Amino acid sequence: DGDAPSDEIGELLTFARKASAALDTELRWLILGPAPEWAAQAAARYGVAGIDRIDDPKLSSFAPDAFVEALAQYCGQNETTLLLFSQTFDVRLVAPRLAGRLGSPVVINGLDLAVEDGRLRVTASAYGGDTRAVYELAGQRPHIVTVMPKATLAEPADGGAAPAVRDVTVDLSGVEERIRVVEPARAEGARLEDAEVIVAGGRGLGGPENFRLVEELAEALGGMAGASRPIVDDGWADPSRQVGLTGKIAQPALYIAAGISGASQHMAGCSAAKVIVAINRDADAAIFRYASYGIVGDCVEILPELTRALTER
Ligand code: FAD
Repeated sequence: DGDAPSDEIGELLTFARKASAALDTELRWLILGPAPEWAAQAAARYGVAGIDRIDDPKLSSFAPDAFVEALAQYCGQNETTLLLFSQTFDVRLVAPRLAGRLGSPVVINGLDLAVEDGRLRVTASAYGGDTRAVYELAGQRPHIVTVMPKATLAEPADGGAAPAVRDVTVDLSGVEERIRVVEPARAEGARLEDAEVIVAGGRGLGGPENFRLVEELAEALGGMAGASRPIVDDGWADPSRQVGLTGKIAQPALYIAAGISGASQHMAGCSAAKVIVAINRDADAAIFRYASYGIVGDCVEILPELTRALTER
């Protein structure tokens, strides 16, 4: 989409160029749906040898069953060594299913790739970014890897000629989408991912009525309210507020965590904050290992005190 290639495309094509050099294979860019006008130029900039396009009305918007079918037929027609995807939410639905269909190995959260003794080794982020794992891929080809955003910086190659676009025909007439989007996720207002200040609450708040203490302090600081997963699961806070591995990944200047224990899955969403302030009754809580400042005490008492001190100023 859009008038120019996104950062993700430059990053993926750079990653792919390095991979194809390491594997000594030709680099082709497969576009599902209508190819944007800038595609050939971008391909030339990043050293792509050829563009393959599968343009079918069923691919004009995201349709996982049609995408899996189109990719499976493409792999049947072309001897592909490695299939790389830029890891988006949609790709996470497609890549594992495609791997299942083809009997191929798949690695999600890919960060780096190397070829050693003819074997493909992929480094991937694991446990919510806590650590990295190295996988050696074997068996059925293509091997499939989804590449995380920012795994590589976009690095144009010495520009060659714009490659030709080859149309690939697949038959999607038999595909019936089994999943229909009834209501797209709400995406209105400010996003936690962009917030400079987040005040987040966890189970230590004691009950749903106390989440407003978090919201009030967030408002006094001009920031946004966040939440740990259990209190979202219990309906104390809206799912759009969830910080963590299965929620939002935020990088605020200030993150205040009230009544949150500091589980790794929560920290995956906030450990990149510049300053973390933890309020917890338990002086041994894991969150204090991450915090620049800690307050040991009852967050139900401390949150309103902080809000009062700020509003008085
Ligand atoms: P608890 O772990 O119950 O901690 C409550 C804390 O509050 C304790 O440290 C306690 O000492 C303190 N406390 C109690 N009373 C008070 C008081 N009055 N004043 C001050 N402190 C008090 N979690 C997420 O948050 N986000 C995710 O995205 C996420 N994804 C997950 C994905 C997977 C696959 C799995 C397995 C788990 C995931 N979790 C996630 C859950 C995670 O493991 C933790 O269970 C969760 O983060 C704990 O939430 P909590 O800190 O609010 O609650």
